[in-house]
Amino acid sequence: MSSLFRFNGTGNARTVPVWGCVCAACERARRDSSYCRGACSAVLETDTYRLLIDAGQPDLCQRYAPADISAIMLTHYHMDHVMGLFHLRWGKNCEIPVHGPDDPQGCDDLFKHPGVLKFQAPLRPFEARRLGPFEVTALPLNHSKPTLGYLFHNWTDGSDGRRLAYLTDTLGLPADTKGFLMANQPDVMILDCSHPPRPDPRNHNDLTIALGLIDAIQPEQAFLTHIGHELDEYLMNRPSLPANVRIAQDGQVLDLSAASAS
Ligand SMILES: [Zn+2]
Ligand SMILES: [Zn+2]
Ligand SMILES: [Zn+2]
Repeated sequence: MSSLFRFNGTGNARTVPVWGCVCAACERARRDSSYCRGACSAVLETDTYRLLIDAGQPDLCQRYAPADISAIMLTHYHMDHVMGLFHLRWGKNCEIPVHGPDDPQGCDDLFKHPGVLKFQAPLRPFEARRLGPFEVTALPLNHSKPTLGYLFHNWTDGSDGRRLAYLTDTLGLPADTKGFLMANQPDVMILDCSHPPRPDPRNHNDLTIALGLIDAIQPEQAFLTHIGHELDEYLMNRPSLPANVRIAQDGQVLDLSAASAS
């Protein structure tokens, strides 16, 4: 059964272009929509199952019919990762299981008024959970709110399927998460890289930290996501990245069942 991973959004909380900004990256995105970046989110799917990874895009109700969403996996409860739930929850005639980290505060009144959202028991660090054809392992991250990254694979593929790690939002990685990924090397690693190199990164990786983690974990392919306009502008004028590292784009699709991703 083929498993596809799709980047629904690859921007940081500001998205690209930034409202009112006239930097080269924002102007490029206005000229060519392939450079626009929406709220950081993704979809993992087979023919019969669709898992949304984060829900920050405001138009989820237009993108999907209720039957099209099997479950939602949240990395954390910052607004740019859950904003789409505030409309979706008032839907009717459906129930959507929602999985995520242990954060009793959540976001605003989501837990008090969940509507059609069925919040499941929070994932414990390194817990593995099966959701349809996918097995998901929870990986603690370093962020300003309780945050989990996830290692996904399609367990119905046996050893043939490719393993994908989705790691945002984070600054570096906790030592146990980094050790887990070095011992359980993902084929594809998707990593927070919000900023160009900066002297005092906070809450998010800059390019230096992101490339250092990729070098330590050595996935076959790495994609940078949660990208801010300043990183886009920085990369417009710099030499290329290491051969196994690419900048994710909104709408990009990876085939996890093939020998190599597209
Ligand atoms: Zn974020
Ligand atoms: Zn800009
Ligand atoms: Zn965040």
